[in-house]
Amino acid sequence: MLENPHPQQIIWAGTALPNPHVPAQSNFGVCVEGNRIVAAGSHQELTDRYPDTPQKGGDHLLLMPALVNSHDHGRAIGTGSFGIADDLLEIWLLQLGAQPTLDPYLAAAFDGLQLLKSGVGTVSHSHNPRNWQTLETEADQTIQGYRDVGIRVAFHPPIVDQNPIAYDPEVFHRHLPANLRSLIEPTDASSVLSTKDYFCLCRNLYNRFHDDQQHTVQIHVSPAGGQWCSDPLLLEAVDFAQQHQTRVQMHLLETCYQQQYAYRRWGKSFVQHLDEIGVLGPWLTCAHMVWVDEADLARLAERGVGVAHNPSSNLRLRSGIAPIAVMNQAGINLGIGLDGHGLDDDQDYLREMRLAWTLGNQPRASSPNLEAQTIWQMGTVGGRRITLGEDIPLGCLAKNEMADLVLVDWAAIQGMWPLSAPDGLLRRATRQHVKHVMVNGDWVIWDGQSSQVNEGEIIDRLQEQLRQQNIAELEGQAKDNRSLAHYLRSFYAEWDNH
Ligand SMILES: [Zn+2]
Repeated sequence: MLENPHPQQIIWAGTALPNPHVPAQSNFGVCVEGNRIVAAGSHQELTDRYPDTPQKGGDHLLLMPALVNSHDHGRAIGTGSFGIADDLLEIWLLQLGAQPTLDPYLAAAFDGLQLLKSGVGTVSHSHNPRNWQTLETEADQTIQGYRDVGIRVAFHPPIVDQNPIAYDPEVFHRHLPANLRSLIEPTDASSVLSTKDYFCLCRNLYNRFHDDQQHTVQIHVSPAGGQWCSDPLLLEAVDFAQQHQTRVQMHLLETCYQQQYAYRRWGKSFVQHLDEIGVLGPWLTCAHMVWVDEADLARLAERGVGVAHNPSSNLRLRSGIAPIAVMNQAGINLGIGLDGHGLDDDQDYLREMRLAWTLGNQPRASSPNLEAQTIWQMGTVGGRRITLGEDIPLGCLAKNEMADLVLVDWAAIQGMWPLSAPDGLLRRATRQHVKHVMVNGDWVIWDGQSSQVNEGEIIDRLQEQLRQQNIAELEGQAKDNRSLAHYLRSFYAEWDNH
Protein backbone atom coordinates (compact mmCIF):
# COMPACT_ATOMS: atom_id res chain seq x y z
CA MET A 1 0.00 0.00 0.00
CA LEU A 2 1.28 3.49 -0.87
CA GLU A 3 2.19 5.70 2.05
CA ASN A 4 -0.19 8.65 2.40
CA PRO A 5 1.91 11.65 1.23
CA HIS A 6 -0.18 13.97 3.39
CA PRO A 7 -0.67 12.36 6.80
CA GLN A 8 -2.41 14.51 9.39
CA GLN A 9 0.15 16.47 11.41
CA ILE A 10 0.32 19.13 14.07
CA ILE A 11 2.79 21.97 13.53
CA TRP A 12 3.39 24.22 16.51
CA ALA A 13 5.85 26.75 17.94
CA GLY A 14 6.57 28.61 21.17
CA THR A 15 5.65 31.85 19.31
CA ALA A 16 3.29 32.30 16.38
CA LEU A 17 1.88 35.05 14.16
CA PRO A 18 -1.39 33.52 12.98
CA ASN A 19 -2.62 36.62 11.17
CA PRO A 20 -1.81 40.33 11.03
CA HIS A 21 -4.91 41.34 12.97
CA VAL A 22 -4.01 39.64 16.26
CA PRO A 23 -0.90 39.92 18.44
CA ALA A 24 1.71 37.17 18.55
CA GLN A 25 0.49 34.00 20.30
CA SER A 26 2.40 31.71 22.64
CA ASN A 27 2.42 27.93 22.19
CA PHE A 28 0.23 28.04 19.13
CA GLY A 29 -0.21 25.42 16.43
CA VAL A 30 -2.21 24.16 13.48
CA CYS A 31 -3.42 20.72 12.48
CA VAL A 32 -2.88 20.07 8.76
CA GLU A 33 -4.64 17.45 6.68
CA GLY A 34 -3.98 17.21 2.94
CA ASN A 35 -3.35 20.75 1.73
CA ARG A 36 -5.57 22.43 4.35
CA ILE A 37 -5.38 23.62 7.92
CA VAL A 38 -8.21 21.78 9.69
CA ALA A 39 -7.73 23.32 13.12
CA ALA A 40 -5.74 26.16 14.69
CA GLY A 41 -5.31 27.06 18.33
CA SER A 42 -3.24 26.48 21.44
CA HIS A 43 -0.73 23.66 21.30
CA GLN A 44 -2.34 22.05 24.32
CA GLU A 45 -5.84 22.12 22.82
CA LEU A 46 -4.60 20.54 19.59
CA THR A 47 -2.68 17.85 21.48
CA ASP A 48 -5.80 16.99 23.51
CA ARG A 49 -8.00 16.93 20.43
CA TYR A 50 -5.63 14.93 18.19
CA PRO A 51 -3.67 12.79 20.69
CA ASP A 52 -2.31 10.31 18.09
CA THR A 53 -1.31 12.86 15.45
CA PRO A 54 2.46 13.30 14.93
CA GLN A 55 3.84 16.73 15.80
CA LYS A 56 6.57 18.97 14.39
CA GLY A 57 7.79 22.19 15.92
CA GLY A 58 9.45 23.42 19.08
CA ASP A 59 9.58 26.03 21.79
CA HIS A 60 12.44 27.93 20.17
CA LEU A 61 10.63 28.38 16.83
CA LEU A 62 8.21 30.96 15.44
CA LEU A 63 5.34 29.74 13.27
CA MET A 64 4.00 32.06 10.58
CA PRO A 65 2.14 31.92 7.26
CA ALA A 66 4.36 31.59 4.18
CA LEU A 67 5.11 34.97 2.59
CA VAL A 68 3.87 36.28 -0.76
CA ASN A 69 6.29 37.93 -3.20
CA SER A 70 3.91 40.13 -5.18
CA HIS A 71 6.21 41.09 -8.07
CA ASP A 72 9.30 39.39 -9.44
CA HIS A 73 11.00 38.23 -12.64
CA GLY A 74 12.71 34.92 -11.82
CA ARG A 75 16.12 36.21 -12.90
CA ALA A 76 18.05 33.52 -11.00
CA ILE A 77 21.29 35.51 -11.29
CA GLY A 78 21.55 39.22 -10.49
CA THR A 79 22.20 41.39 -13.53
CA GLY A 80 25.40 42.79 -11.93
CA SER A 81 27.01 39.39 -12.52
CA PHE A 82 26.74 40.04 -16.26
CA GLY A 83 28.43 43.42 -16.08
CA ILE A 84 25.14 45.32 -16.18
CA ALA A 85 25.54 48.11 -13.65
CA ASP A 86 22.56 49.54 -11.79
CA ASP A 87 21.42 52.77 -13.38
CA LEU A 88 18.26 54.71 -14.14
CA LEU A 89 15.59 52.16 -15.08
CA GLU A 90 15.42 53.39 -18.68
CA ILE A 91 19.20 53.01 -19.15
CA TRP A 92 19.37 49.73 -17.25
CA LEU A 93 16.60 48.16 -19.37
CA LEU A 94 18.58 48.96 -22.48
CA GLN A 95 21.55 46.99 -21.12
CA LEU A 96 19.49 43.86 -20.45
CA GLY A 97 19.82 42.84 -24.11
CA ALA A 98 23.42 41.84 -23.35
CA GLN A 99 22.45 39.24 -20.75
CA PRO A 100 23.34 35.61 -21.36
CA THR A 101 20.40 33.34 -22.11
CA LEU A 102 19.64 31.03 -19.23
CA ASP A 103 17.48 27.95 -19.50
CA PRO A 104 14.03 29.07 -18.30
CA TYR A 105 13.45 25.88 -16.32
CA LEU A 106 16.73 26.17 -14.41
CA ALA A 107 16.27 29.90 -13.79
CA ALA A 108 12.79 29.39 -12.34
CA ALA A 109 13.81 26.36 -10.28
CA PHE A 110 16.81 28.17 -8.81
CA ASP A 111 14.93 31.39 -8.17
CA GLY A 112 11.92 29.59 -6.73
CA LEU A 113 14.20 27.71 -4.39
CA GLN A 114 15.91 30.89 -3.16
CA LEU A 115 12.49 32.39 -2.44
CA LEU A 116 11.25 29.30 -0.59
CA LYS A 117 14.42 29.35 1.50
CA SER A 118 13.57 32.90 2.54
CA GLY A 119 10.05 31.91 3.60
CA VAL A 120 8.13 32.79 0.42
CA GLY A 121 5.39 30.33 -0.64
CA THR A 122 3.93 32.29 -3.60
CA VAL A 123 5.65 34.31 -6.30
CA SER A 124 4.20 36.61 -8.91
CA HIS A 125 6.43 36.07 -11.95
CA SER A 126 6.53 38.81 -14.58
CA HIS A 127 8.31 37.07 -17.43
CA ASN A 128 11.23 38.59 -19.36
CA PRO A 129 11.21 36.70 -22.68
CA ARG A 130 14.45 35.33 -24.08
CA ASN A 131 12.79 34.88 -27.47
CA TRP A 132 9.30 36.21 -28.22
CA GLN A 133 8.73 33.57 -30.88
CA THR A 134 9.14 30.69 -28.44
CA LEU A 135 7.42 32.33 -25.52
CA GLU A 136 4.98 29.49 -24.94
CA THR A 137 7.82 26.99 -24.52
CA GLU A 138 9.58 29.38 -22.14
CA ALA A 139 6.36 29.75 -20.17
CA ASP A 140 5.96 25.95 -19.92
CA GLN A 141 9.51 25.54 -18.69
CA THR A 142 9.32 28.43 -16.25
CA ILE A 143 6.10 27.20 -14.67
CA GLN A 144 7.53 23.68 -14.48
CA GLY A 145 10.68 24.97 -12.76
CA TYR A 146 8.68 26.76 -10.07
CA ARG A 147 6.35 23.81 -9.58
CA ASP A 148 9.17 21.27 -9.31
CA VAL A 149 10.66 23.11 -6.35
CA GLY A 150 7.19 23.50 -4.82
CA ILE A 151 6.42 27.23 -4.90
CA ARG A 152 3.06 28.64 -6.06
CA VAL A 153 3.36 30.89 -9.10
CA ALA A 154 1.17 33.58 -10.63
CA PHE A 155 2.74 33.63 -14.09
CA HIS A 156 2.26 36.53 -16.46
CA PRO A 157 3.71 36.81 -19.94
CA PRO A 158 4.38 40.43 -20.97
CA ILE A 159 3.29 42.38 -24.03
CA VAL A 160 4.37 45.78 -25.35
CA ASP A 161 3.15 47.55 -28.48
CA GLN A 162 4.75 51.01 -28.33
CA ASN A 163 7.76 53.04 -27.17
CA PRO A 164 10.13 50.09 -26.70
CA ILE A 165 13.26 52.23 -26.18
CA ALA A 166 12.23 55.81 -25.36
CA TYR A 167 8.94 57.36 -24.29
CA ASP A 168 9.02 59.84 -27.19
CA PRO A 169 10.54 57.67 -29.90
CA GLU A 170 10.55 60.09 -32.84
CA VAL A 171 12.38 62.77 -30.89
CA PHE A 172 14.85 60.24 -29.50
CA HIS A 173 15.56 58.89 -32.98
CA ARG A 174 16.34 62.39 -34.20
CA HIS A 175 18.85 62.73 -31.31
CA LEU A 176 20.88 59.79 -32.58
CA PRO A 177 23.87 60.01 -34.91
CA ALA A 178 23.35 58.19 -38.22
CA ASN A 179 25.52 55.19 -37.31
CA LEU A 180 23.33 54.45 -34.28
CA ARG A 181 20.00 55.09 -35.99
CA SER A 182 20.48 51.91 -37.97
CA LEU A 183 20.89 49.90 -34.75
CA ILE A 184 17.34 50.36 -33.61
CA GLU A 185 13.87 51.12 -34.79
CA PRO A 186 12.73 52.95 -31.69
CA THR A 187 9.11 53.32 -32.75
CA ASP A 188 8.71 49.71 -33.75
CA ALA A 189 7.60 47.14 -31.21
CA SER A 190 6.55 44.63 -33.86
CA SER A 191 9.48 42.30 -33.16
CA VAL A 192 7.45 41.17 -30.16
CA LEU A 193 4.22 39.20 -30.47
CA SER A 194 1.19 40.67 -32.19
CA THR A 195 -1.68 41.43 -29.82
CA LYS A 196 -3.69 38.61 -31.39
CA ASP A 197 -0.89 36.08 -30.85
CA TYR A 198 -0.37 37.33 -27.32
CA PHE A 199 -3.94 36.75 -26.16
CA CYS A 200 -3.98 33.41 -27.96
CA LEU A 201 -0.87 32.47 -25.94
CA CYS A 202 -2.52 33.67 -22.70
CA ARG A 203 -5.64 31.61 -23.50
CA ASN A 204 -3.55 28.48 -24.14
CA LEU A 205 -1.56 28.95 -20.94
CA TYR A 206 -4.72 29.64 -18.98
CA ASN A 207 -6.43 26.50 -20.28
CA ARG A 208 -3.39 24.35 -19.61
CA PHE A 209 -2.13 25.65 -16.28
CA HIS A 210 -4.55 27.88 -14.38
CA ASP A 211 -5.44 25.93 -11.23
CA ASP A 212 -8.59 27.33 -9.66
CA GLN A 213 -8.83 24.48 -7.15
CA GLN A 214 -5.52 24.47 -5.30
CA HIS A 215 -4.09 27.70 -6.73
CA THR A 216 -0.65 26.23 -7.36
CA VAL A 217 -0.49 28.08 -10.72
CA GLN A 218 -2.40 31.11 -11.89
CA ILE A 219 -2.11 32.68 -15.33
CA HIS A 220 -2.44 36.47 -15.41
CA VAL A 221 -2.00 38.95 -18.26
CA SER A 222 0.63 41.65 -18.25
CA PRO A 223 0.69 44.70 -20.46
CA ALA A 224 4.27 45.40 -19.38
CA GLY A 225 3.84 49.06 -18.46
CA GLY A 226 1.60 52.06 -19.06
CA GLN A 227 4.02 53.83 -21.43
CA TRP A 228 4.79 50.64 -23.36
CA CYS A 229 1.18 49.72 -24.12
CA SER A 230 -1.56 51.42 -26.15
CA ASP A 231 -5.00 52.03 -24.68
CA PRO A 232 -6.66 49.31 -26.83
CA LEU A 233 -4.09 46.78 -25.62
CA LEU A 234 -4.68 47.70 -21.96
CA LEU A 235 -8.43 47.38 -22.44
CA GLU A 236 -8.11 44.00 -24.11
CA ALA A 237 -6.02 42.81 -21.15
CA VAL A 238 -8.76 43.92 -18.75
CA ASP A 239 -11.38 42.14 -20.88
CA PHE A 240 -9.32 38.97 -20.85
CA ALA A 241 -8.93 39.09 -17.07
CA GLN A 242 -12.64 39.64 -16.53
CA GLN A 243 -13.66 36.89 -18.95
CA HIS A 244 -11.30 34.41 -17.33
CA GLN A 245 -11.72 35.52 -13.72
CA THR A 246 -8.02 36.26 -13.51
CA ARG A 247 -5.81 39.29 -12.95
CA VAL A 248 -3.77 41.95 -14.75
CA GLN A 249 -0.33 42.95 -13.50
CA MET A 250 1.62 45.85 -14.98
CA HIS A 251 4.52 48.13 -14.11
CA LEU A 252 3.32 51.67 -13.50
CA LEU A 253 4.82 55.00 -12.48
CA GLU A 254 8.17 53.45 -11.66
CA THR A 255 10.16 56.52 -12.73
CA CYS A 256 9.68 60.26 -12.87
CA TYR A 257 9.83 60.06 -16.69
CA GLN A 258 6.85 57.72 -16.73
CA GLN A 259 4.93 60.25 -14.66
CA GLN A 260 5.95 62.99 -17.11
CA TYR A 261 5.01 60.83 -20.08
CA ALA A 262 1.35 60.85 -19.00
CA TYR A 263 1.24 64.64 -18.58
CA ARG A 264 2.98 65.15 -21.95
CA ARG A 265 0.66 62.70 -23.71
CA TRP A 266 -2.72 63.44 -22.13
CA GLY A 267 -2.18 66.51 -19.94
CA LYS A 268 -3.24 64.52 -16.87
CA SER A 269 -1.90 61.89 -14.51
CA PHE A 270 -1.49 58.27 -15.58
CA VAL A 271 -3.97 57.14 -12.95
CA GLN A 272 -6.58 59.63 -14.12
CA HIS A 273 -6.15 58.58 -17.74
CA LEU A 274 -6.33 54.86 -16.95
CA ASP A 275 -9.42 55.43 -14.85
CA GLU A 276 -11.16 57.37 -17.61
CA ILE A 277 -10.63 54.57 -20.13
CA GLY A 278 -11.74 51.85 -17.67
CA VAL A 279 -8.50 50.05 -16.82
CA LEU A 280 -8.63 50.53 -13.05
CA GLY A 281 -10.42 47.92 -10.97
CA PRO A 282 -9.89 45.17 -8.40
CA TRP A 283 -8.45 42.95 -11.17
CA LEU A 284 -5.37 45.18 -11.49
CA THR A 285 -2.06 45.13 -9.60
CA CYS A 286 0.50 47.83 -10.39
CA ALA A 287 4.14 47.27 -9.53
CA HIS A 288 6.32 50.15 -8.21
CA MET A 289 4.02 53.24 -8.16
CA VAL A 290 6.85 55.44 -6.89
CA TRP A 291 5.62 58.51 -8.77
CA VAL A 292 1.92 58.34 -8.05
CA ASP A 293 0.21 61.70 -7.49
CA GLU A 294 -1.18 62.09 -3.99
CA ALA A 295 -4.44 63.36 -5.50
CA ASP A 296 -4.93 59.94 -7.14
CA LEU A 297 -4.62 57.78 -4.02
CA ALA A 298 -8.30 57.90 -3.08
CA ARG A 299 -9.23 56.93 -6.65
CA LEU A 300 -6.90 53.89 -6.55
CA ALA A 301 -8.36 52.80 -3.21
CA GLU A 302 -11.92 53.25 -4.44
CA ARG A 303 -11.27 51.16 -7.55
CA GLY A 304 -9.65 48.39 -5.46
CA VAL A 305 -6.36 48.53 -7.40
CA GLY A 306 -3.45 46.64 -5.78
CA VAL A 307 0.07 48.04 -5.51
CA ALA A 308 3.17 45.83 -5.34
CA HIS A 309 5.89 47.78 -3.53
CA ASN A 310 9.50 47.07 -4.61
CA PRO A 311 11.73 49.07 -2.26
CA SER A 312 15.15 47.59 -3.14
CA SER A 313 14.64 47.77 -6.86
CA ASN A 314 13.31 51.32 -6.59
CA LEU A 315 16.54 52.34 -4.84
CA ARG A 316 18.94 50.41 -7.07
CA LEU A 317 17.37 51.68 -10.31
CA ARG A 318 17.30 55.25 -8.94
CA SER A 319 13.53 55.46 -9.13
CA GLY A 320 12.98 56.77 -5.59
CA ILE A 321 10.90 55.80 -2.57
CA ALA A 322 7.23 54.92 -3.00
CA PRO A 323 4.91 56.68 -0.53
CA ILE A 324 3.49 53.50 0.99
CA ALA A 325 2.52 55.04 4.35
CA VAL A 326 0.13 57.47 2.65
CA MET A 327 -1.03 54.75 0.25
CA ASN A 328 -1.84 52.59 3.27
CA GLN A 329 -3.60 55.48 4.98
CA ALA A 330 -5.68 55.98 1.82
CA GLY A 331 -6.82 52.35 2.03
CA ILE A 332 -4.94 50.98 -1.02
CA ASN A 333 -4.31 47.21 -1.10
CA LEU A 334 -0.56 46.76 -0.78
CA GLY A 335 1.93 43.92 -1.19
CA ILE A 336 5.73 43.64 -1.42
CA GLY A 337 7.86 42.24 -4.24
CA LEU A 338 11.59 41.74 -4.70
CA ASP A 339 11.60 42.47 -8.46
CA GLY A 340 14.65 40.17 -8.68
CA HIS A 341 16.72 43.14 -7.57
CA GLY A 342 17.12 43.01 -3.79
CA LEU A 343 19.77 45.16 -2.07
CA ASP A 344 21.92 42.12 -1.31
CA ASP A 345 21.17 40.27 -4.56
CA ASP A 346 20.01 37.29 -2.51
CA GLN A 347 16.19 37.25 -2.82
CA ASP A 348 15.84 37.72 0.93
CA TYR A 349 12.18 38.61 1.40
CA LEU A 350 12.57 39.11 5.17
CA ARG A 351 15.14 41.84 4.55
CA GLU A 352 12.89 43.37 1.91
CA MET A 353 10.13 43.72 4.51
CA ARG A 354 12.67 45.39 6.83
CA LEU A 355 13.57 47.86 4.08
CA ALA A 356 9.89 48.51 3.29
CA TRP A 357 9.19 49.25 6.94
CA THR A 358 12.21 51.48 7.45
CA LEU A 359 11.93 53.47 4.21
CA GLY A 360 8.15 53.68 4.53
CA ASN A 361 8.43 55.92 7.56
CA GLN A 362 9.21 59.34 6.20
CA PRO A 363 10.40 62.61 7.77
CA ARG A 364 7.97 65.18 9.22
CA ALA A 365 5.61 64.94 12.17
CA SER A 366 2.67 65.13 9.79
CA SER A 367 3.73 61.91 7.99
CA PRO A 368 1.59 58.88 8.82
CA ASN A 369 3.23 56.19 10.92
CA LEU A 370 3.81 52.81 9.29
CA GLU A 371 3.75 50.03 11.86
CA ALA A 372 5.41 46.63 11.68
CA GLN A 373 1.96 45.07 11.71
CA THR A 374 1.11 46.84 8.43
CA ILE A 375 4.27 45.55 6.72
CA TRP A 376 3.50 42.10 8.08
CA GLN A 377 0.02 42.35 6.57
CA MET A 378 1.55 43.36 3.20
CA GLY A 379 3.86 40.34 3.23
CA THR A 380 1.04 37.88 3.95
CA VAL A 381 -2.70 38.53 3.55
CA GLY A 382 -2.30 41.81 1.64
CA GLY A 383 0.20 40.25 -0.76
CA ARG A 384 -2.09 37.28 -1.33
CA ARG A 385 -5.03 39.59 -2.11
CA ILE A 386 -3.17 41.50 -4.85
CA THR A 387 -1.34 38.42 -6.17
CA LEU A 388 -3.77 35.49 -6.12
CA GLY A 389 -7.04 37.30 -5.46
CA GLU A 390 -9.51 38.38 -2.82
CA ASP A 391 -11.19 35.04 -2.12
CA ILE A 392 -8.20 32.70 -2.02
CA PRO A 393 -7.85 31.09 1.46
CA LEU A 394 -4.18 31.81 2.05
CA GLY A 395 -2.06 34.08 4.23
CA CYS A 396 -3.34 33.21 7.72
CA LEU A 397 -2.95 30.28 10.11
CA ALA A 398 -6.65 29.50 10.50
CA LYS A 399 -9.10 26.68 9.88
CA ASN A 400 -9.82 26.02 6.16
CA GLU A 401 -6.83 28.06 4.94
CA MET A 402 -4.43 26.33 2.56
CA ALA A 403 -1.43 24.95 4.44
CA ASP A 404 1.39 27.35 3.53
CA LEU A 405 3.52 27.99 6.60
CA VAL A 406 7.02 28.66 7.82
CA LEU A 407 9.00 27.84 10.97
CA VAL A 408 11.87 30.22 11.74
CA ASP A 409 14.53 30.01 14.45
CA TRP A 410 13.02 32.59 16.82
CA ALA A 411 15.59 31.95 19.57
CA ALA A 412 18.41 32.87 17.16
CA ILE A 413 16.55 35.97 15.95
CA GLN A 414 15.95 37.08 19.54
CA GLY A 415 19.61 36.62 20.51
CA MET A 416 20.42 38.08 23.89
CA TRP A 417 17.79 40.80 23.93
CA PRO A 418 14.18 39.92 23.33
CA LEU A 419 11.94 41.77 20.91
CA SER A 420 8.26 41.09 20.40
CA ALA A 421 6.85 39.77 17.11
CA PRO A 422 6.26 40.93 14.44
CA ASP A 423 8.59 43.90 15.21
CA GLY A 424 11.50 41.63 16.17
CA LEU A 425 11.01 39.47 13.10
CA LEU A 426 10.96 42.48 10.77
CA ARG A 427 13.91 44.16 12.46
CA ARG A 428 16.28 41.18 12.72
CA ALA A 429 15.29 38.11 10.69
CA THR A 430 17.08 37.11 7.49
CA ARG A 431 16.78 34.12 5.20
CA GLN A 432 19.37 32.32 7.35
CA HIS A 433 16.76 31.99 10.09
CA VAL A 434 14.24 30.10 7.94
CA LYS A 435 14.21 26.42 8.95
CA HIS A 436 11.19 24.65 7.47
CA VAL A 437 8.65 25.70 4.82
CA MET A 438 5.36 24.01 3.91
CA VAL A 439 3.48 24.88 0.72
CA ASN A 440 0.10 23.35 -0.08
CA GLY A 441 0.60 20.74 2.66
CA ASP A 442 4.11 19.63 1.53
CA TRP A 443 7.32 20.28 3.45
CA VAL A 444 9.21 21.72 0.49
CA ILE A 445 12.07 23.04 2.63
CA TRP A 446 13.27 21.03 5.61
CA ASP A 447 16.22 22.15 7.72
CA GLY A 448 16.97 24.86 5.19
CA GLN A 449 17.25 22.43 2.26
CA SER A 450 14.94 21.48 -0.60
CA SER A 451 13.12 18.21 -0.18
CA GLN A 452 12.06 18.29 -3.85
CA VAL A 453 15.18 18.84 -5.99
CA ASN A 454 18.97 18.67 -5.84
CA GLU A 455 19.98 22.34 -5.57
CA GLY A 456 23.67 21.60 -6.23
CA GLU A 457 22.79 19.99 -9.55
CA ILE A 458 20.69 23.02 -10.60
CA ILE A 459 23.61 25.35 -9.75
CA ASP A 460 26.08 23.15 -11.68
CA ARG A 461 23.84 23.20 -14.76
CA LEU A 462 23.42 26.99 -14.59
CA GLN A 463 27.18 27.48 -14.29
CA GLU A 464 27.74 25.18 -17.25
CA GLN A 465 25.32 27.30 -19.29
CA LEU A 466 27.21 30.45 -18.41
CA ARG A 467 30.47 28.87 -19.54
CA GLN A 468 28.92 28.04 -22.92
CA GLN A 469 27.77 31.60 -23.71
CA ASN A 470 29.20 33.40 -26.72
CA ILE A 471 31.04 36.09 -24.77
CA ALA A 472 32.25 37.99 -27.86
CA GLU A 473 28.68 38.35 -29.16
CA LEU A 474 27.40 39.53 -25.78
CA GLU A 475 30.23 42.04 -25.46
CA GLY A 476 29.43 43.40 -28.94
CA GLN A 477 25.82 43.84 -27.93
CA ALA A 478 26.84 45.51 -24.65
CA LYS A 479 29.04 47.98 -26.57
CA ASP A 480 26.16 48.97 -28.89
CA ASN A 481 23.88 49.35 -25.89
CA ARG A 482 26.37 51.60 -24.10
CA SER A 483 26.52 53.89 -27.15
CA LEU A 484 22.73 54.13 -27.22
CA ALA A 485 22.61 54.62 -23.44
CA HIS A 486 24.70 57.77 -23.74
CA TYR A 487 22.08 59.35 -26.00
CA LEU A 488 19.19 58.03 -23.96
CA ARG A 489 20.63 59.70 -20.86
CA SER A 490 20.95 63.06 -22.58
CA PHE A 491 17.42 62.63 -24.01
CA TYR A 492 15.91 62.23 -20.52
CA ALA A 493 18.19 64.90 -19.04
CA GLU A 494 16.28 67.32 -21.25
CA TRP A 495 13.03 66.14 -19.67
CA ASP A 496 14.46 67.19 -16.31
CA ASN A 497 14.32 70.79 -17.48
CA HIS A 498 10.65 70.76 -18.43
ZN1 LIG B 1 9.43 44.40 -12.44
